[in-house]
Amino acid sequence: MAIRKAMVAGNWKMNGSLELVKQMSDAINDVKSQEMDIVLFPPFPLVPAMVASGVSTGAQTVSENTPGAFTGEVDAQLIKDLGATYVLVGHSERRSIYNESNATVAEKFARAQQVGLTPILCVGESESEQENGQTEQVVAAQIDAVIEKLGVAALKDSVIAYEPVWAIGTGKTASPEQAQTVHKFIRDKIASLDSNLAQGLTILYGGSVNEKNSELLFAQTDIDGGLIGGASLKAESFTAICNSAK
Ligand code: PEP
Repeated sequence: MAIRKAMVAGNWKMNGSLELVKQMSDAINDVKSQEMDIVLFPPFPLVPAMVASGVSTGAQTVSENTPGAFTGEVDAQLIKDLGATYVLVGHSERRSIYNESNATVAEKFARAQQVGLTPILCVGESESEQENGQTEQVVAAQIDAVIEKLGVAALKDSVIAYEPVWAIGTGKTASPEQAQTVHKFIRDKIASLDSNLAQGLTILYGGSVNEKNSELLFAQTDIDGGLIGGASLKAESFTAICNSAK
């Protein structure tokens, strides 16, 4: 983990409140350090309050389009203007519930970078894909969609989050060895195109990370931190996870 700066990101999904922004930002401001980036992804309406709290902020998704007649969608430039710096693209809940394809995710990635937001590209296989031995094939296709659209250089100003779908919100975590194997696969795949870029690329693990399992996961060579769902809603758990990434 030492060659790259650690990152711990918290995805609040459709949870949270102004009160939680206050509670969580107070707790994070106590554990912040130069060695690590901590970023929270609250629902859109809480983005300005999170930015004002001093915690690095991201949005959970973004429109692939420029402003226009897209009711309910949110433009990347607006997210940037509000002071957010990151955006999640291709979270498995967006892929499965809102039918986002690899191609759509690549368009969102492109639009985010166009305005200067850093995309966190979420990738990962479903339970049946894992059982059928398709993990590498699925993850490779999700990453290739971005490389085909934008070239490998676009990954330089981005983060990848490996989140096996079967581990998200289920309490089932990939073992540190299992996660490391996929992270290494991702880094080697990108290194075959640009080895410097691959060595500098932050790759997060996500899927039922908590304060008990984070330390061993983050100790793996190719795991640079975590994308945390449920445990990012509890100040004590989230800050303990942050401390384990130091
Ligand atoms: C997530 O939402 O990205 C996630 C990893 O959730 P959880 O930590 O709850 O599994």
